[in-house]
Formats: sequence, structure tokens, C-alpha cells
Amino acid sequence: SLRGKTAVVTGSNSGIGLGVARELARAGADLVLNSLTERDEDHALAEAISTEFDVVAKYVKADMSVGEECRSLIESAGSCDILVNNAGIQHVAPIDEFPRDKWDAIIAINLNSVFHTTAAALPMMRAKGWGRIVNVASAHGLTASPYKSAYVAAKHGVVGMTKAVALETAQEPITCNAVCPGYVLTPLVEAQIPDTMKEYGMDRETVIKEVMLARQPSKEFATVEQLGGTVAFLCSSAATQITGTTLSVDGGWTAL
Ligand code: NAD
Repeated sequence: SLRGKTAVVTGSNSGIGLGVARELARAGADLVLNSLTERDEDHALAEAISTEFDVVAKYVKADMSVGEECRSLIESAGSCDILVNNAGIQHVAPIDEFPRDKWDAIIAINLNSVFHTTAAALPMMRAKGWGRIVNVASAHGLTASPYKSAYVAAKHGVVGMTKAVALETAQEPITCNAVCPGYVLTPLVEAQIPDTMKEYGMDRETVIKEVMLARQPSKEFATVEQLGGTVAFLCSSAATQITGTTLSVDGGWTAL
């Protein structure tokens, strides 16, 4: 059980981050939820999880594109036993047309934030003699697709940083791993299905299997609950000797 542990999950008011937060709460962890908005519904989300799983949960606004805000998120948590670096964005364009501001934002949010939060969290983990760092990378941390240069660079960077941090903490009761999802059914992905159906003139099943999951051999999306369960496993005692590695949740994508 993760009772008495505090988990900070970046970018957790939707999608995978929220799924991860819920599964960690189910395992008993207290939570710090985060995103860059400050709405009533963000705080209500923390309250609902707190009630459902009988854990302490709060929501803290912080922009993961800003190094100081990454560090202050960890400090405001008071304690950070589990750090899940999940916040991330995407932009798709050929490299010679890739907008510079999009490149900078992807590298800042998807890669630099992991440096800042990890640097802030490690001293807290060392003080308490236990820690788990799980970085949500991607199948694109291990393979590439055209037109996703910034995302692929950032996610490969996250996988590399994961290994370096694991070596720096190898003789301590702290682990650092990356989870590499393939295509996950999040609200954002769900919302793309009707438009893609129209664009290709296909039914829902065909669009999912032939277009969206063209590279996912299982022809099934991964779910946010499955991602959450994978992160919870990496925080469990069974995973004590798992460090510096990647765990793919991609229906066979990277086996191709
Ligand atoms: P999402 O858009 O639903 O969630 C992203 C989260 O990050 C949201 O909570 C968003 O508010 C937050 N966020 C964005 N910019 C931020 C910022 N500057 N500061 C703080 N929070 C910010 O997307 P998702 O699909 O759940 O993605 C989560 C992670 O999983 C990302 O790192 C993404 O690259 C990765 N991933 C997703 C898929 C997929 O198929 N959905 C596949 C592989 C990897």
C-alpha cells in the first residue's frame, strides 16, 4: 500500500495524468494534482478523489514550461515521495517549418520540467529514505515518426535522463523509470475520432484500427487506467530492483 506516501503528478487534471493520480490514490497515496489552469473544477477534482479514495488531495497550479514553477510545485507539496512527470504537449510539422515557439515549448514542458522537478524532489526523497520517480515518456521515446521532431527529441531525452537519474540513485532506496505509452484513449483522442471518421469516410471501428492504430499491433488503445496501474506497479515493493529502464504500454508498437 502507498498509505502515508505523497505523490506529485504533473499535468494531472485530465488524460493519463488523472488516470495515474486516481490509481495512486486507489493504492492509498496522498496526491498533489497539477496543471496550468486555476479553475473551480480543478480543485473540485482533487476534492472528489480525496472523498472517493479517502486520501489527502490538493490541486496546485504551476506552469511546467517555467523552471521555477516546476521547482515551487515540488516545494509547495511539502513532501514528495512519488514524482510522476506526466505533463506534455505535442505539435506536428516538418522540421524546416517547425515553429520555433512550439519547439521551445515542447522541450520546456516535455523535457526541461523533468530536470527541474527531479532536482527539487530528490533531496526530499533522500531525507525520507524512499522515493519513486516515474517519467511518462512515449513510444516516441524509443522510436520516431516524421513531423514530430521536437516531441521525439524531448521523449528520447526523458528516457536518457531517466537512466542517468537511476544511476545517480542506484545505491539508495529510490528508483527512476520511464513508462512508454503507445496510443492511449484519452478524452483528447476520443474527441478526434468523429472528425477522422468524416475525413476518411470510415466507421468508428475502421478509423480506430486502420488509421489511428495503424502502428499499434494490438489494434486496441491503451487506457488511462492501465497506465495508472503500470505506474502504481513501479511504486510497489515488487518493483524495488526495477530502475533505469522503460516499460512500454503500447500493444506491441516497439516490437515491430
Ligand atoms: P492531455 O492533454 O490529456 O494531458 C496533458 C496534461 O498536461 C493536462 O493535464 C494539461 O493540462 C497538462 N499540461 C499541459 N501543459 C502544461 C503546462 N505548461 N504546465 C502544466 N501542465 C500542463 O494529454 P495526455 O495524452 O494525457 O498526455 C499525458 C502525457 O502522456 C504527455 O506527456 C504525453 O506526451 C504522454 N503520452 C500520451 C499518449 C497518448 O496517446 N495520449 C501517448 C504517449 C505519451
